[in-house]
Amino acid sequence: RRMTLMIPFDNSYARLPGVFYSKQAPVPVRAPRLVAFNTDLAAVMGITPGEVEEMAQVFAGNQVPKGADPIAQLYAGHQFGHYNPQLGDGRAVLLGETVGVDGLRRDLQLKGSGRTPYSRQGDGRAWLGPVLREYVVSEAMHALGIPTTRALAAVETGETVLREAPLPGAVLARVASSHLRVGTFQIFAARGEMGSLKQLTDYAIARHYPDAEGPMDLLRAVRDAQVALIARWMGVGFIHGVMNTDNSSIAGETIDYGPCAFMDSYHPNTVYSSIDRMGRYAYSNQPDIAVWNMAQLATSLIQQMPDRAAAVEEATEIVHAMPDLLQEAWLAKFRCKLGLNTAQKGDDALIADLLQRMAQNQADFTNTFRVLGRAEGRDQFLDPAAYDTWLATWQARAKGEADPLALIAATNPAFIPRNHRVEQMIQAAVAGDYAPFQRLQQVLTTPYADQPDHAELQSPPAENEVVQATFC
Ligand code: AMP
Ligand code: MG
Ligand code: MG
Repeated sequence: RRMTLMIPFDNSYARLPGVFYSKQAPVPVRAPRLVAFNTDLAAVMGITPGEVEEMAQVFAGNQVPKGADPIAQLYAGHQFGHYNPQLGDGRAVLLGETVGVDGLRRDLQLKGSGRTPYSRQGDGRAWLGPVLREYVVSEAMHALGIPTTRALAAVETGETVLREAPLPGAVLARVASSHLRVGTFQIFAARGEMGSLKQLTDYAIARHYPDAEGPMDLLRAVRDAQVALIARWMGVGFIHGVMNTDNSSIAGETIDYGPCAFMDSYHPNTVYSSIDRMGRYAYSNQPDIAVWNMAQLATSLIQQMPDRAAAVEEATEIVHAMPDLLQEAWLAKFRCKLGLNTAQKGDDALIADLLQRMAQNQADFTNTFRVLGRAEGRDQFLDPAAYDTWLATWQARAKGEADPLALIAATNPAFIPRNHRVEQMIQAAVAGDYAPFQRLQQVLTTPYADQPDHAELQSPPAENEVVQATFC
């Protein structure tokens, strides 16, 4: 049968020397079934959609499309602070890259596509739950205006994956500006492979930061991208859950959605991830961890500098500037969340005061900010008076601001992918009902719009719906 699906591949990473990857075709699955396809993203990427059956075959990895050059990428990384000298795509292959109608180059990766030389003890597979979670959450992040990998398609494999129980297998077709990670640099630096480290540095500069004039410029650019990213995460109450250096993107995108979650009631120490036992990646630790990760990138990049002492000095300066930059970006983000266009002394204290009251009163993060500045905000607080007194201070501060309530509505989403809704969506899909998946995804394409028909998706979980821990 003739192929109708057309993906205009141009595979720059596969043209690099073999040290950066292993050639690896996806491992075919028994009975692929297409369960989601992102038509809008396909169009931007210049992809011509094909028949459903054909797309199931391609996005399951059963059929390698024309022009693809599948590889498993090599990298290392610090996992929960401990260096692992070799990781790599253990359950993913990069099919290749496209240059879209917008001129942007993007990776197209299959995640859950079978074993690779980097699989270690793993089975190379993914189950439906995390695939649908990544689909919904990454697309929601995009709609929220937060840099992220995206979801092009999801396929059920017709095979069973063994986790705590036998579960339905799935593959996610994931799209990223690139899959270059801090850990991609770490592996060549740690091995002392300077030629490869230099080549990788040049590649990253050309692909992502063409104005950068060398490794230290690259470090500065990645730092700035990470600062912007983390401030946005903090602004929507997002907790990544596994901020290992192999999950830290050079392009500054949110990548590798595992046990991630959006906070319901606000507390700075919130952790959902079942594997984050020490709370290393708790909500309020994320800025510090981003600095730690940039220090690892700095350590790797300086290995290639001819004047090591000067490079150490410059890299140290770049990394040491990061906490202040994060604080500035955070403050700018939360000023907007409070409806404030201008900057005044004391704004940080006003924000901190609100957050402290929210933590003490188990206020829902999303819903409190959505109605901020209005009287009904008090309903979010165990002790409504805690809001009333804060509101009076805010009203005094907001006098003379152009239109604070409009800015509040534009900055604070009405809808986020709430954990209990994500879990319910997964349960339904496992039982064969994709309606909750469709609905959640559709609503989250316009998260800043009021959608009265879907108001129940704004509600925090009832007591028996609360998700205590997330798994990947
Ligand atoms: P993650 O924490 O999901 O970013 O994964 C960390 C490392 O473990 C990466 O190298 C993954 O490719 C690998 N990995 C995770 N799950 C599996 C699996 N089921 N089979 C093989 N490798 C895996
Ligand atoms: Mg190789
Ligand atoms: Mg990862």
